[in-house]
Amino acid sequence: MKRTYSVFSIIVRIYLQTFKIVPISGILSLIHYVVQGLFPAVLLFIASKLYDAVYRFLNGEYVLQDIYHFAFFLLGGYIVKNILYFTSSITVNAGIYERCVSYNRMQIGAKTARLPLIFYENTAILNCKDRATECVNSEMLSQIYMSSALFITGGINIIAVSLILASYSLYLVPFSLLSVFPYFIAHRIRGKDFYKIKYIQVEKMRYRDYMWHLLTDRRSIKETRLMCSHEYFKSKWAYYRDTVYEELWKKTKKDLQSFFLCDILRIAGYAASIVLSLILVLQGVISIGVFGACITAFVSVQEETKKFLIEFARLSEKLLYAKDFFEFLDLPEENTGIKAVSGFSDSIEVKDLCFEYPNTEKPAVHNINLTVKKGEKIVIVGENGSGKTTLVKLMLGLYPALSGNITYDGQPIEDIDMQELYHQVSLIQQNFTQYQLTVRENVAISDIAYMHDDNKILHTLTLCGINRFTQTELDTQLGTQFDGTELSGGQWQKIAIARAIFKESSIIILDEPTAALDPLMETEILKSFLDIAAEKTAIIISHRIGLCKYADKIIVMKNGSIDGIGTHTQLIEKNSEYFRLYHAQAKWYQ
Ligand code: ADP
Repeated sequence: MKRTYSVFSIIVRIYLQTFKIVPISGILSLIHYVVQGLFPAVLLFIASKLYDAVYRFLNGEYVLQDIYHFAFFLLGGYIVKNILYFTSSITVNAGIYERCVSYNRMQIGAKTARLPLIFYENTAILNCKDRATECVNSEMLSQIYMSSALFITGGINIIAVSLILASYSLYLVPFSLLSVFPYFIAHRIRGKDFYKIKYIQVEKMRYRDYMWHLLTDRRSIKETRLMCSHEYFKSKWAYYRDTVYEELWKKTKKDLQSFFLCDILRIAGYAASIVLSLILVLQGVISIGVFGACITAFVSVQEETKKFLIEFARLSEKLLYAKDFFEFLDLPEENTGIKAVSGFSDSIEVKDLCFEYPNTEKPAVHNINLTVKKGEKIVIVGENGSGKTTLVKLMLGLYPALSGNITYDGQPIEDIDMQELYHQVSLIQQNFTQYQLTVRENVAISDIAYMHDDNKILHTLTLCGINRFTQTELDTQLGTQFDGTELSGGQWQKIAIARAIFKESSIIILDEPTAALDPLMETEILKSFLDIAAEKTAIIISHRIGLCKYADKIIVMKNGSIDGIGTHTQLIEKNSEYFRLYHAQAKWYQ
């Protein structure tokens, strides 16, 4: 069920987390803002006193002393105001905005790491994450936090300047307030529209950024160049860039129209205030000396009220962004049990397992029943799309089953502490990472406690058939991104396998990391892998059957379910799918 967020709860969370991130500068900045924000009213008050003194002086009263005093205060006030402005740019910007942005980015990163992996198959969740990131990058949370200071100072200023204006003429006060009220309506409507557009645009923007990634990423750029698909991606990127831009521009045009109308009303109010003040002068209600101060006070009320109303109207838009941020942070995390697994001692059992990816109607795997015994070497074969990867991810608890169950030594997977389980597993996938790091890091990243155990690293490399690095060369940078040594595809694959072996896990799963190699080479590497992993339970996914002869058990997958389980000899005799695969590929292994 979707959680609801009240304005109050959002604001309280923002305050609590800001006090946590910047306890001192958070409070100092608020005080700073309030003091600084009160200056317009104070300066206006002093100015009105100065006008008054000058007027009295011109009328023959000897108030020169007063004129000096007020002029001195006014000048002093301006100097302090500018000093405060300067110091606030240090405390507020450096103290709050940057640190909050960096803290909230870390929160998004940490949350991303704790989300169930199945969420990454769900576009709605990806959009939610993008909106949360947008909220953080545009500093919405700190803006909401600082709004409170703006509201306090804005409110006090409006009252103060309104009182000054009222002291000249009461009629002018409602007049000045009403003349800027349309700003509130316009900003409130336009702000919500802006949020709606941004909400919808998130997916388009991700698509646009993906096109940019294809055009610029070093991995895809080679293929893009050879396929001559550069222009195609460029035109798609440009299309989405323009669509996003045009939608925003359309909205900006509407904004400009409505804000222009607001400006006209405000200026009309200003003109009318001049006329009204003149009438008051002619009627002798106010003196000609007060006329100037009266107009200044009118403009101040307009300015202060306008600022306040715009800030207030935009708050609801900012709160919508903040809601997105908290919605992301409150997503359910990986559901992990508490029971420890210290390597399983007997078997993994899978019973009646079914699973569907989000937003799909056809199960990716269904009615799966199988047992993996400790130490067994299992090969899962089947055509592409037959459900091999999905099955393994389910067995590791990376995706939650739709129905059925998985147990480790009889313990349901839901009860097991997943972090503990992950310590027991090495998984190398087809699209494994070629870390642009040193040889040492590429191997020992799977078990960083042994990062400086040169002997263990060298031994693992040797086991995996990599003999080109000596002890002194373990810190050789790999990959071209940082001017390192580039390896061949096969060597990278061996490094990935070394990484899996290096970790002292009891289960190793290889999900076609060698698929890019030629079949014979693949079989050779995987065969030596089976020897190295003698003590471990190994599950190897492959759409090629070269390795099957060496496996304890072969699982044949077809259309999301298990078509047969057995040894090579058994399956050749009784499983038509395996027979078909074997004969279709036999030529590769002669
Ligand atoms: P294999 O590993 O045998 O190639 P997979 O387990 O990757 O097969 O895929 C099994 C089925 O699930 C396929 O029909 C595939 O289209 C579908 N599938 C895989 N990944 C996703 C996903 N992220 N979202 C929706 N369907 C998916």
